Amino acid sequence: MTTPETTHRFQAEVSQVLHLVIHSLYSNKEIFLRELVSNASDALDKLRFRALTETGLALGDAALEIRLIPDEKAGTLTLEDDGIGMTEAELVEHLGTIAHSGSRAFLDALQKQGEQKKDLTLIGQFGVGFYSAYLVADRVEVISRAAGSAEAHRWKSEAKDTFTVEPAERATRGTSVILHLRPEHQEFLTGWRLRELVRRYSDFVSHPIRLRVEKKTGEGDDAKTELDFETINRASALWQRSKSEITDEQYDELYRHLTHDQAKPLARTHFQIEGTQQFSGLLYLPQSTDRDMFQVEGKKGIRLFVKRVFIMEDCEELIAPWLRFVRGVVDSDDLPLNVSREILQDSAAVRAIKRQVTKKVLDLLDEVAKERVDDYAAFFRAHGPILKSGLATDYDHRERLGALLRYQSSYTVEHADENAGLTSLEQYVSRMKEGQEAIYYVVGESLKALSGSPHLEALRQRNYEVIYMTDPVDEWAADGLREFSGKPLVSAMRADLKLQESEEEKKTKEEAKGSLGPLLSAMHEILKENVREVRVSDRLTDSPACLVVGEGGSNAFLERVLKERGHATPKQKRIFEINPKHPLIEKMRSIHAKEAASGEVISWTEMLYDQALLTEGSALDDPQRFAKRVAELLTVAAAGKS
Ligand code: ADP
Repeated sequence: MTTPETTHRFQAEVSQVLHLVIHSLYSNKEIFLRELVSNASDALDKLRFRALTETGLALGDAALEIRLIPDEKAGTLTLEDDGIGMTEAELVEHLGTIAHSGSRAFLDALQKQGEQKKDLTLIGQFGVGFYSAYLVADRVEVISRAAGSAEAHRWKSEAKDTFTVEPAERATRGTSVILHLRPEHQEFLTGWRLRELVRRYSDFVSHPIRLRVEKKTGEGDDAKTELDFETINRASALWQRSKSEITDEQYDELYRHLTHDQAKPLARTHFQIEGTQQFSGLLYLPQSTDRDMFQVEGKKGIRLFVKRVFIMEDCEELIAPWLRFVRGVVDSDDLPLNVSREILQDSAAVRAIKRQVTKKVLDLLDEVAKERVDDYAAFFRAHGPILKSGLATDYDHRERLGALLRYQSSYTVEHADENAGLTSLEQYVSRMKEGQEAIYYVVGESLKALSGSPHLEALRQRNYEVIYMTDPVDEWAADGLREFSGKPLVSAMRADLKLQESEEEKKTKEEAKGSLGPLLSAMHEILKENVREVRVSDRLTDSPACLVVGEGGSNAFLERVLKERGHATPKQKRIFEINPKHPLIEKMRSIHAKEAASGEVISWTEMLYDQALLTEGSALDDPQRFAKRVAELLTVAAAGKS
């Protein structure tokens, strides 16, 4: 009987990945073992989880292990696992035809690197780790039998453009990956090399990794060589061991296994909680670099284990959404093994775990913020927007979150060497001037746009520091925080600035209001389609006018961001403030007093309004009109020169 072998073409992007792997000059080929062991370990985890709920899969005493079988004569290294296995369709899909979105991303990432330096360590990060087998093998066979099925299949490929799949034999459930090693990679058949690699890369794997060894027994005529298996990893979950027994490298390898992130973690916290809920946790903060890459296919969130049994990936119920950059493991002793998403969602036990987890992560963030200022600044630049979203949604943690915020400000711009160019609110408060009652901020696209903003003039005159917020979530977060250390956060762009004023200042303002009354009404009449009110400003010293946000309104920056992202925003009328001390305003007042219907008052008012829009970075309703008026004014000015 001939076996019905079917030939399939690799999906184009997979072909490209394979081509790259095979022709790679990359010297660190040993990473293939880590990737394949990682897949085997995942397959065992998945099986154990499914066996909890599928009666047909009861595991009994079945071994759940990974076996390494070197065969020097045949030149093959086989990795066997007793895991979930793959059906025929899964073999075709997972190992060839359907490229994970990661294949393209992986190719793009490599494209950016120089020819000699292509760093294939990335491979696992993009969900294409299996293909690293071709770093050392020119031919790979995968024999797999899916859990609960009686059939097995063999996948085979020399990584040209095609692979084949055919029926095969496998006594039990699981997967065997057979690597036909290239002659120059026979070192991966030696016991010491395999032991070394497992210790280095896979020691955290909680399933036993067993190496097939030859044992010689008896002497002389009785001498025999027996085959035996020897466990070469610790096979205990890393997070269950005591900290003193774990090296940094082991912690880092677990992180890499969990996240597929090639960079080292920024920091970690490893803890055991005893109490109403007994559990252990090992949580990591990722670094800041390559955030996009990290998000491509990087495994997400926290993995939940119950009594060492893997339950689920990305368990959102265990951590606040504003800490969703955290990666790691939580292993509970008390949750039921058959816990489902529904149970998790309204379980008091889970909420208790979440509280502790959140506290531990905040402690870790505090520690990094305090002790590693530069690292924290880089971290905050990358993940700050996520963290800040907690201020608007989580009242309980406001204070601790407030202490973790970092901003640029009028102070940091001049002291870029301090504190990695950022300030905390605590530092801001310590620099507050006498009589200063609030923490002031402005919101906009960029430092450059903000530092020249007319809204800052009165604050600057008083020597008050102003925080520059350039992240769209910033003002929302500031509204959530409301105050820090008893000092309110106040937007210098909002109507109610409430600066302390001297009696003298108050008096001048009142007088100005009186004498400017008719002009203010006239200006409002001219601009009434666009502004809610025209009034005398107490925040301007040099500029003639600016726009401020009224009660309950949103700032112009946020409106622009929302609009760019395709959200319809109703046109909001803001308040137009004018500077009573500005010579132009004074001139307009006297022209208006003489001739209420003066064309100059109309055209100058519209120009001032357009100019205020420009300084805050907004688009003009009618740029042509503005350009025409500027030209007219220049012509008049030029005529005055001759
Ligand atoms: P990733 O593991 O990141 O998804 P891989 O290229 O390493 O990417 O593997 C692709 C898929 O093939 C896996 O997601 C899994 O479904 C399947 N797979 C690989 N190895 C095994 C194995 N030993 N047992 C069961 N399934 C496997």
